[in-house]
Amino acid sequence: MNSPFQFFIGDLRSGRAEPRPISAEVSVDWRVELSRVEPSPPLRFDFELSPIAGGITVMGDIEASVSHRCHRCLSEWTDEVLHDVAQMITTAGDEDDDYRLEGDVYDFEVLVRDELMLGLPIAPSCGPDCAGLVAEAGSGFNTGLAEDEAALSSPFSVLKDLLDDGA
Ligand SMILES: [Zn+2]
Repeated sequence: MNSPFQFFIGDLRSGRAEPRPISAEVSVDWRVELSRVEPSPPLRFDFELSPIAGGITVMGDIEASVSHRCHRCLSEWTDEVLHDVAQMITTAGDEDDDYRLEGDVYDFEVLVRDELMLGLPIAPSCGPDCAGLVAEAGSGFNTGLAEDEAALSSPFSVLKDLLDDGA
């Protein structure tokens, strides 16, 4: 097996097989937008695999350390994420199925990655009281101008800044 995400699960094709657990710790470095799954400590997953008609159910959770950058003030912080998983790997499905067992070895990397990354916020915010990039908004902290407030609270404000920079 080349990857720590790969497991022999061909035995679970049989409906008479007993459910069994798998688990692994893997160091990854996955990024999306303003979030990153930290390589250290390694991500950990614990799944219970159970044979059912036409497939194998994957129940369990993924634990990972994920760092975020606030989309408004750009401050950074790290969260410990515990993500519940309830998925199915098909053994008798067609090409359109997201997760399908071909052969006897299954690589869980895509499933784990999808589950973890799709649960991350598109626009992380450090909190409801985030003051945003006050200096760049051209006003003081306490002026309370409604216009600045609107600009700062928009998830597109960072994108707009990027576009302005590129102009
Ligand atoms: Zn913030």
